[in-house]
Amino acid sequence: MTSVTTYAIMREMPEVTNLADKMENQLPAELVNFMRVAGGIATKQGQSLYLVGGVVRDLLLGKANFDLDLVIEGNAIELAQQLAEIKLGKMTTHPQFNTAKIKWSKWSVDLATARAESYAKPGALPTVKPSSIESDLSRRDFTINTMAVCLNPNRYGELIDLYGGRDDLERRLIRILHERSFIDDATRIWRGVRYEQRLDFQMERNSLELLRRDTPMLGTISGDRIRYELECVFQEQEPEKVLRRAEELNVLQRLHPWLRGNGWLADKFKAARKRASPGLPPFGFYIALLAYHLSNEQSEHLISYLRLSKAVAQIVRDTAYIKTKLKALADPELSRSSIYRLLHSYSQPAIIANLLASESPVACQHIEIFLSELRYVKSALNGNDLIKMGVPTGPYIKEILQRLHQARLDRKVTSKQGEEELVKGWIAI
Ligand code: ATP
Repeated sequence: MTSVTTYAIMREMPEVTNLADKMENQLPAELVNFMRVAGGIATKQGQSLYLVGGVVRDLLLGKANFDLDLVIEGNAIELAQQLAEIKLGKMTTHPQFNTAKIKWSKWSVDLATARAESYAKPGALPTVKPSSIESDLSRRDFTINTMAVCLNPNRYGELIDLYGGRDDLERRLIRILHERSFIDDATRIWRGVRYEQRLDFQMERNSLELLRRDTPMLGTISGDRIRYELECVFQEQEPEKVLRRAEELNVLQRLHPWLRGNGWLADKFKAARKRASPGLPPFGFYIALLAYHLSNEQSEHLISYLRLSKAVAQIVRDTAYIKTKLKALADPELSRSSIYRLLHSYSQPAIIANLLASESPVACQHIEIFLSELRYVKSALNGNDLIKMGVPTGPYIKEILQRLHQARLDRKVTSKQGEEELVKGWIAI
């Protein structure tokens, strides 16, 4: 690997900080107990075990985060096997990375073997080999994510902060560890923007300069990895902030030059969340709004670049189709069956995306009628009923069923008996 200038200064800790109390107070007892047991087993095996990454950052920030990531200087899978037995939990492993996940009742913990990484070329996935906790922390993205807490009983709770992560937390700064960080892995650009906006931090001055310099490196990242980053953005409480900042930094435009993270998008995202509450809007819904102002051709580029799943791609396409029908939907004279005809074949997220995006109160009202009523309307008679009534089998049945459905939609008929009378009339003709 190319040697790099260490950018965040590696420093000796002047005093030992212990987070045992914070862990006790902020984490569920079940997880605290798990870590104590795990630390005890690791000590018996003569290995050191650490809590690492986001959860340590969030412990110091006083934010709830129960996603435990443990790193052992030894063998993660062996430790996981013992812990899974004790907890009567389920274990899944990735022997090629020497990592394991344990799940029991409602809990889940990730275990990894401390590893060093090198990058064969920018944007490639790293080559990994077992190593010390120091090397493991040195491969991480930002100083605030490099802190670890020792879990062995004799050092339980001891904070390891080799890169000044705690200082940066206090100064509210996102700082990379070395000057090639974004070149090695440009997904860190999206990660950095995400942390900055989620925590209301700022990118440290030199890190920001390097980020600006290295945005072209986003071109070295596969569409799948970028899509994953975007999925993470949409899991944030306020993704619009991340997208606004990403536009400002010319990062969003790397997805597609015409994408914007502006006030319009922010309003629509807020409205989308209100509608989806208490959960978050699904990925397809957010992306349909993000792509709303793209032409069909531009949307197709985005779909293939991000390798969107069939279902999500369909939402983006449906959103564009419905957009072309908004003018028709804005006609105040439109019958209920016409509203149904214009909307029924499209996915619900695409319909709601247009409801949020449309400027026309009439079109919005029609879409609401469709969503709350028309899509549930069914006629009482079915094909068999029609045959029994003497309608000849064949395409005529389908036609009559359609006419009945239309009559129901337009409230020309409201009962089974009324439908039968209509059919009798049609057959007589
Ligand atoms: P979040 O709160 O978003 O879940 P997290 O810090 O737990 O934050 P993860 O994506 O789960 O984030 O990653 C776990 C840890 O792995 C991070 O804290 C960071 O130290 C490290 N990491 C993840 N992705 C990268 C990357 N691309 N480059 C370097 N380190 C990374």
